[in-house]
Amino acid sequence: MYRLIPLLLMPLAIIACGSRQSAGRGPTRAAADGPAAGEAASLPEDAPPAADGGGKSGLSDAQWRERLTPEQYRILREKGTERAFSGAYWDTTTAGVYGCAGCGQPLFVSDAKFESGCGWPSFFEPLAEGLIDEHVDTTLGMVRTELTCSRCGGHLGHVFDDGPEPTGLRYCINSVSIDLKPSDPPGGGAE
Ligand SMILES: [Zn+2]
Repeated sequence: MYRLIPLLLMPLAIIACGSRQSAGRGPTRAAADGPAAGEAASLPEDAPPAADGGGKSGLSDAQWRERLTPEQYRILREKGTERAFSGAYWDTTTAGVYGCAGCGQPLFVSDAKFESGCGWPSFFEPLAEGLIDEHVDTTLGMVRTELTCSRCGGHLGHVFDDGPEPTGLRYCINSVSIDLKPSDPPGGGAE
């Protein structure tokens, strides 16, 4: 048993030596590994991911994890759904523009928001054409139309055809997927 100890220690010594060596040659390794991590960390908050084209966002999975909260990541990037009546905006009536929580692209105006009673913020139309992509979603044994941000590909929610006039559509959106920019900042006017 005792004899084993030196034998066990030897590989450790070699490993330690090896890692010291590679640390010594660090610049090469750092140059190879460094930028990726550094880039994600230093990505400006409002830097829009590459427009359209290819993978939509241009950001890696790791970069998205860095930018988003775990809940935002689960819903925007993994197509999750927040619990009904749990989100920040399901009953909000504040005037303003709702932008994508992933990339900031404006998506809806409060004028198109209505009380649907479903527990998620609901709109009868997007702010403009081309902002939201639609996909057939056959998960959960249903055929639904999934909505994603046309700029970053983030999952927003689904659209149903039981909405009010003038469109008859209900864009059912996760609060987590959107950010409201109030048109009248609090304390900026009245009184
Ligand atoms: Zn987006």
